[in-house]
Formats: sequence, structure tokens, C-alpha cells
Amino acid sequence: MRSITILGSTGSIGRQALELVEAYPDEFSVAALCAHKNAELLFEQVRKFRPRLAALTAGEVEIPEDVRQGCEWLFGGTALEKTAGLAPADDVLVAVSGMVGLKAVLAARKANRRVLLANKEALVAGGALVMDVCTVGGRDATLLPVDSEHSAVFQCLNAAEKNRYSKIILTASGGPFRTWSRERISDATVEEALRHPNWSMGAKITIDSASMFNKALEVIEAKWLFSAAPEQIEVLIHPQSIVHSMVEFEDHAVLAQLGLPDMKLPILYAMSWPRRLPMQTPRLDLHKVGQLTFESVDEKKFPAVGLAYDALRAGGAAACVLNAANEVAADAFIQGKIRFGDISRVVQETVQRIGSPAADSLEAVLAADESARHAAAQLIHTF
Ligand code: NDP
Ligand code: MG
Repeated sequence: MRSITILGSTGSIGRQALELVEAYPDEFSVAALCAHKNAELLFEQVRKFRPRLAALTAGEVEIPEDVRQGCEWLFGGTALEKTAGLAPADDVLVAVSGMVGLKAVLAARKANRRVLLANKEALVAGGALVMDVCTVGGRDATLLPVDSEHSAVFQCLNAAEKNRYSKIILTASGGPFRTWSRERISDATVEEALRHPNWSMGAKITIDSASMFNKALEVIEAKWLFSAAPEQIEVLIHPQSIVHSMVEFEDHAVLAQLGLPDMKLPILYAMSWPRRLPMQTPRLDLHKVGQLTFESVDEKKFPAVGLAYDALRAGGAAACVLNAANEVAADAFIQGKIRFGDISRVVQETVQRIGSPAADSLEAVLAADESARHAAAQLIHTF
């Protein structure tokens, strides 16, 4: 039985992780839960899973009597880091959205917890800091990837034992605008961008899938998780989202992990690693899928992926700057302040303006993040 703390328990990943805890009562128990502001759902979760600790980072609210019993409550900005370290858990699933994920990962590792990492920002913005305190491969792994592509790569690498890989091939669905013209993509509406063909996810990551900034962030994640050089990472469009990613080895054998597009598998794999537990979800039926197709990324239509490689080559906090600018731009798009096509322009111009400041401490990373957000917001005013 492993006990798990879930940070971001009210989100898309957090809710699915709790469904898995419920489905495997002999395998997992909940040590602590943390959300930002969705108090009602968190109360329900506390009633059901009875953690010893619960937290709401947005601030204090009144706690109903039945939810208070046997559960300590924390509130406010520092509650996330405290929850990551305080509760006596084996694993901490970091499924919060945004830069706060970085602090959460560092706090969980400081308390010697194993990190199951869904949050992308921690690695993208603070990859060097995270990898300083985490190991990914081997029996003593202290970080297990949850993002489906990285879970797929991790699974392929596990199957290859100690053999070195030569290339990581990250697959991408291409999002809802894959077949659209560049002009039409430029003027896509929020509603259109939120209509992902294969995956059901939170709003920000769905917008990122449409702009392909999600894949940009994943290229950067892959660099840190698997110590890959930029030229060892390839992005391949695969509209069916059945092959979740692939690894090429030095003998040119390519291993792939296949499955239906369902985050429950990578979440459960991280939770139960190195075991594979029987799943109750539908099986992959390749007869039904029929065809698996692959194509290259059209960089003119989707500049995001190219910007990620530029950021990797620039080093320092360039990836942090890219991430922060994208967050501000995606938010401005959702609020109707800029067009869809402006998202990549905002990112590109912010990266040009800020460059690649140092990323050798948490303070430096947070400062780079802050200046990038400021610069991106200023740029948006000029559009
Ligand atoms: P959601 O937006 O659905 O959920 C975010 C969760 O984080 C909510 O529980 C929210 O609480 C909480 N949260 C937000 N801000 C804070 C904060 N400042 N402090 C504490 N908690 C906070 O996101 P997703 O579940 O979709 O994604 C979570 C992370 O996982 C992201 O980094 C995403 O990129 C990554 N990821 C997601 C995938 C997916 O399929 N959804 C796939 C791969 C990676 P509240 O509800 O109270 O606001
Ligand atoms: Mg992914």
C-alpha cells in the first residue's frame, strides 16, 4: 500500500488520480490533498478519501464540521509547499497548473518524497534545479513522468534496460488546426481552440495543444528528463494519438508505447511503478483504429516547436521565458485581447527582448519568469 499526496486534486489530472485510488483500494491511500480555490470539490474529496491534511492555496474559507474532523487544514500561498512536505506520504503527485509546480517539486524532494510529475512548468522553467534533486531512471528513481509522451518514453527506456538510446520521438496529435491554412489558424476562436480532437484536458493545456506550445514544452521536458541533446529529440505528428511516443536505439530499433488516449494509464503507471496493475478501461483495438499515420510538423503554421529548440540552444532561463510568455499570451487569447496567431508572436518577441537570463537558483528562475510576464503583457498592449 502506497500513500499519495495529490497537489491539484480538483484538476483534470488530480481527479483522475483520485478515481484510480478509488479503483485500487488495496494499493493506494491518500495522505494529503491540495487545491487552489475549488473548496466545494475539495470538501467532497476529503469526505471520500479522508486525508490527514488538506489545503486551499487561494485563502481561508469556512470548513464544514464533518470535513474538519481528523483533517488538518492549511490555507494561503505557502500551503502548497507545506502540503508537499508535511504529510507522511510515499509519493507526491504534482498536478497543479503553472509555475507553482516548481516550488512544489522542490519542497517534495526536500522532504524526500518520490515525485510523480504531471506539471510541465517545473521542468520547463526550472529543469536544472529539478534534475539536481531528482533521478529519473533505475530502481531508485525519485521522479516519475506522468505526461503521456514522457511516460511512453520512460516505458520504452525501461524495456531497453541499460542500452543507450539515440533518439526520442515525441508524437503530437497536431491539435484541431492541423489541416487548417495559416490564415484561418490566425483567426481561430477560443471555442475552436478548446475543441481537442482526442484528449480531454484542462483549458490552458488544450489551447497549448492547438498552438503546439504544448509540444514545445514537452520537447523541453524531454531534454531534462532523459538528458537529451536538442538534436536527439524529434517531434512527429500522429493524428490518431495511439502511439504515445517512441525511442530509437543505437542499433536503429524503434520501440513505441501504444494505447488509447487516456491519461489514466500514464497516471497509474507512475503510481504503481515498476508494476503494471490491471486496468478497467477499454482496450486498444487496432482493428478498429485501422490506420496509424505520421507526418512532419509544419513549422510555418506552428512556430512553437521551433521556438522550443531555440530556447534549448540558448540555455539559461530561455525556456522559462518562453513558458511565461506563452502563459500570458494564451490567457490574453482566452480573454479576447489577442488573436490566436498572435500567441507565437508574443512568445517570439518576448524571448528576443529578454534573452536567456541565469537559471541557477530558484530566485533567478522566478525573476526571469516575472520579467518575461511583464514584457509579454506590455507587448500585448501594443497589438
Ligand atoms: P487543471 O487546470 O484541470 O487543474 C489544475 C489544478 O491545480 C487544480 O486542482 C487547481 O485548483 C490547482 N491549482 C491551480 N493553481 C494553483 C496554485 N497556485 N496552488 C495550488 N493549486 C493550484 O489542470 P490539468 O489537470 O489539466 O493540468 C495540471 C498540470 O498537468 C499542468 O501543468 C498540465 O500542463 C499538466 N498535464 C496535464 C495533462 C492533462 O491531460 N490534463 C496531461 C499532461 C500534463 P482549483 O481547481 O482549486 O483551481
Ligand atoms: Mg503530453
